[in-house]
Amino acid sequence: MVSRGTTQQSSAPYNRRIVLDVIRRQGSISRKEIVDLVSLSPQTVANITNDLETIGLIVAKRLTGAKSRGQPPIAFELNPNAGNSIGISLEPGRASAALVNLVGEIVGRREVDVDTHDPRRALASMVGLINDLLRRPGISERIWGVGVALPGPLIETDISFVGPTALEGWKDLSILDELRDGTRLQVFYSVDSVAGALGETLFGVAKSLDNFFYMHFGVGLGGTLVVNRSAYRGANGNATEIGHIPVVPGGKTCYCGNAGCLERYLSLHSLAEALQIVDAPDRDAQIVAQLQRSENPALHAWCLQAADRLRDAVCIIENMLDPRAIVIGGSAPKPLVERLVALAQPLHHSVRGGVAVPNQRILLSERQEDSTILGAAVLPIYDLLSPRFEVLQQDRRAEADVADLMGQRAITRAGRL
Ligand SMILES: [Zn+2]
Repeated sequence: MVSRGTTQQSSAPYNRRIVLDVIRRQGSISRKEIVDLVSLSPQTVANITNDLETIGLIVAKRLTGAKSRGQPPIAFELNPNAGNSIGISLEPGRASAALVNLVGEIVGRREVDVDTHDPRRALASMVGLINDLLRRPGISERIWGVGVALPGPLIETDISFVGPTALEGWKDLSILDELRDGTRLQVFYSVDSVAGALGETLFGVAKSLDNFFYMHFGVGLGGTLVVNRSAYRGANGNATEIGHIPVVPGGKTCYCGNAGCLERYLSLHSLAEALQIVDAPDRDAQIVAQLQRSENPALHAWCLQAADRLRDAVCIIENMLDPRAIVIGGSAPKPLVERLVALAQPLHHSVRGGVAVPNQRILLSERQEDSTILGAAVLPIYDLLSPRFEVLQQDRRAEADVADLMGQRAITRAGRL
């Protein structure tokens, strides 16, 4: 699917986003090919590519090996170093951060253990991680912002900030405004599953999917439906919180106040409980080591029941939403996710059965353990680059500034995506 340009007078930022988006998705593309893909005149496309080249967002390269006579054609590519963004994933007990360039490459990565029950300690850790990543030469002038991914649901619900899979004890997210003030950087945030889903949309396995369901498998379990490259938010931004869907009648008590919730059977916290390593600092390493040895009966029993729950969850999601695929990402070690997906075969019958390519119903993030921080880093980039009609606004001035040229809204607080 390719977004079309618009001829409205106030559409310049939108059209620039459309052209930039086509260049990003194609990797390398000539001006004529851009004109063929978007509904804009050759002159408009020429003006836009000139603008984008002037501010350094794209670079022009001569195509070699072309058979035509005369000058070889020019292709445009995104300039990976035109901007950087920092993604932070805040999970119970841990803060991970990555410095990412405009093509989604992780340039630097840091991680610290932190007592997330105390928001102020979490803030201090995040500031420390950001300062550490900004120490690289020449980076601080090119930072577009910070994205923070947190376990949902967030504010305004009676199951927010409860239990060991959430940021237990938090009352609100005012700490993110302080992060913005303390670092003087634009700060965006979202539920971790939304960040992961947008990351897969922009740079991952969902690049070519017009709709899909993203399953976040980390300390807890969450999900996001993506339609036309936007996350479906619901009434309060807490849609598709699948971890708290009751799936086992009379099952394990859940922190949300219900019983038998999916997350109690399918999450790293649930596995850590089964292995009695909930508080172990090297929990993930222990899980990977035990998976390799493959001799712990408790691990094997947990995997069998978790795979049953995964099979049910896939059926519920497919029958409810008919997504092109279910993409699994999150902080869970990839060997664990691969084991569960293999054990969940054959999948239940559903509306995707007989339609989807059998081994394409579930796709795994290629950056499994890093998928959430990459997704978090995408939040500032997504805000600035993705073509969305709500960014249509007056083209304020001709100054060659990225935010101005791309029609970014000025925000004075941490912004939720
Ligand atoms: Zn629950």
